[in-house]
Order: sequence, then C-alpha cells, then structure tokens
Amino acid sequence: MKLLAVVASKAGLELLAMGGASVSFTADVAAECAARGASPAYLWQDPLFEKSPSEAGLRAIEAAVRQSGADLVLLGADSRGREWAPRLAARLGAGICTECTGLKVEGDIVRCERPVYGGKATAVLELTAPVKVVGVRAGVLAAPDASTAGLPAALDGVDTSGSERWPVRVEHVAEQSEGPSLQDAKVIVSGGRGLGGAENFAVLKQLADVLSAAVGASRAAVDEGWVPASWQIGQTGKVVRPDLYIAVGISGASQHMAGVAAAKNIAAINTDKDAPIFEQARLGLVGDYREVLPPLIAACKELLGR
Ligand code: FAD
Repeated sequence: MKLLAVVASKAGLELLAMGGASVSFTADVAAECAARGASPAYLWQDPLFEKSPSEAGLRAIEAAVRQSGADLVLLGADSRGREWAPRLAARLGAGICTECTGLKVEGDIVRCERPVYGGKATAVLELTAPVKVVGVRAGVLAAPDASTAGLPAALDGVDTSGSERWPVRVEHVAEQSEGPSLQDAKVIVSGGRGLGGAENFAVLKQLADVLSAAVGASRAAVDEGWVPASWQIGQTGKVVRPDLYIAVGISGASQHMAGVAAAKNIAAINTDKDAPIFEQARLGLVGDYREVLPPLIAACKELLGR
C-alpha cells in the first residue's frame, strides 16, 4: 500500500509519500520525515496557502495523491484535517474514516478504529475503496527512528486558480508552556476534579518538575476552568503515549482513558478504592493526594538528587 501523509505547518504543506505497508509515523517537518524514510517527501509552499489554506491546500493534496499514486492518505484529526478529509475523499471517490484512534493495513484493506457512543465503545471500520482517506488523532502513531537521509522535493503543477475565493483569516497564538510538551513527555502528571481547585495544580507542578514531566488534566478540571483546554487528555483532548502516566484525583472515565491507552505504565492516586482508574493502573495508591504527594515529592527529590 502506498501512503501519503499530510502535515500542515506555517511554512506550507509537507506531503510525505511512503511506499510499502508501514504506517507508523507522524512527524512535523518534511525534512525530518524524509530522513525517517518518507520517499518521496514533497514540500509545497505557495503564498496562497496563508490566505486560502482550505481550498489551495486541498488542491495541493489532491495533486500529490495523484502524482504519488498513493492509495492511503493520512491527515491529522485537527481542525484543518477535519475540514480537508471529507472534501478530499469526495473529490477522490475515496473511503474515509475520521477521528481514527488506531489503524492496521491488511492487504488492500485498512481497518480503522474510532470511538463511538461518547467513547464507551470502539467501532472498527473496514475501508475497501481503492483510495482511503484517514483522519488520525495526534499521538496515535509513533514516529520511526531516523535512518536514511533525504530531502523533500518541491511539488509542481498544482493548479490553485480560483482558490482565493475561499479566503481564511489565520491567527497564530503561541501556547504558553514550559518543560516538555504533553505529546513528547516521557512522564505525565495529570490532575482531575479530585484536586478541588486551580491552586492545587501547584503541587502537581512540583512533582512534574522533579520528574521532568509535563502536566495534564481531565476534562472535568478543564471544564471547571482550573487549567487551559490544551492540557486536556482524552477522547476530546490529547492522545498521549508516555512511559509513565500519573493520574491524581481522576476517576478513570472511558473518555479520559481513551487518551492514555498507549501509556506504558499508569499510576493512580485516588481516595476511592473502587475508582475505575485502578482497573487499568499498574500502580495504585488509595489516599488523599494532599497527604500522598508531599512525601512522594520529597522521596523523588532524594532519589533523583534534585
Ligand atoms: P471525576 O469523575 O469527578 O473524578 C474525580 C476523582 O477524584 C474521583 O475518583 C474521586 O474519588 C477522586 N478524589 C476526590 N478527592 C480526592 C483527593 N483528595 N485525593 C485523591 N483523589 C480524590 N474526560 C476527559 O478527561 N477527557 C476527555 O477528552 C473527555 N471527553 C469526553 C467526551 C464526551 C463525548 C463525554 C460525554 C465526556 C468526556 N469526558 C472526557 C468526561 C468524562 O466522561 C468524565 O466526566 C471526566 O473524565 C471526569 O473527570 P475526573 O476524573 O477528573 O472527575
């Protein structure tokens, strides 16, 4: 199966074609993807992309699919990918799955998982059309190690005439963050409604600093207005894949766990011994975080010499 992955950035579009059946990558720069085995990797840059990303970008993707002969197109399930995926599928007469949280290539068939019924069940969609378009949620696919060196090639012959009729005003707002990002972090310390208030995330931050971890949150904590929406982990938040996920005051609702299914280890601190999170946690501590965290932070500091 020939794959084309689309990555949109401020500079333009990076269209990464890969031969073979490997679908295990997401990366954010064409050069990096080329170095990780994408061949060919196209880079398409046109001033129209800033003004009319929706239409001009779509045309570039369509041209790249036709030029590369790709039969599987991966788009991020972000706001832009959500707009492009159905339009691209309609133009290509392709099969489509959006909000994909897992995918497998079996011969000519692509099996995609996506959450349904508010995350309580997972549907498996079989895409059998000759061309398939899949909107994949961030964090679902792991990047392969960089191996071969390569440089992206420019994509030629994209007809963008008339695209300016669909202007879009693009505003870039830099996210305020320190330390590792949720998507790159090896360790994540995450807080839920059980923390009881915005000010109590300070103790989570202390633990995160000692462990060089990122801080995340459940939707309940976000909805309470305690932390920014960008911290939310779960079905409607970020999908993360850390080595260690420490859930503090989080009950373990299926919609939250959908975002941490790929975590290698889950540790939970919760006052309720019957909280569902303990069913999935490798390490569980029944207790009030206000009593548990200070000695834990002190012990980690001593152990790690920080
Ligand atoms: P609660 O369920 O209220 O749990 C709080 C926990 O804290 C309890 O287990 C309690 O025992 C414990 N606790 C209380 N006090 C303490 C203490 N002092 N010390 C230690 N523990 C304590 N949720 C997400 O997180 N992410 C999503 O992306 C998401 N998407 C959703 C999408 C849909 C369509 C729907 C319907 C829901 C979604 N939700 C999502 C919401 C989800 O169903 C839960 O409501 C939410 O995850 C609950 O958050 P919580 O665990 O922080 O709060």
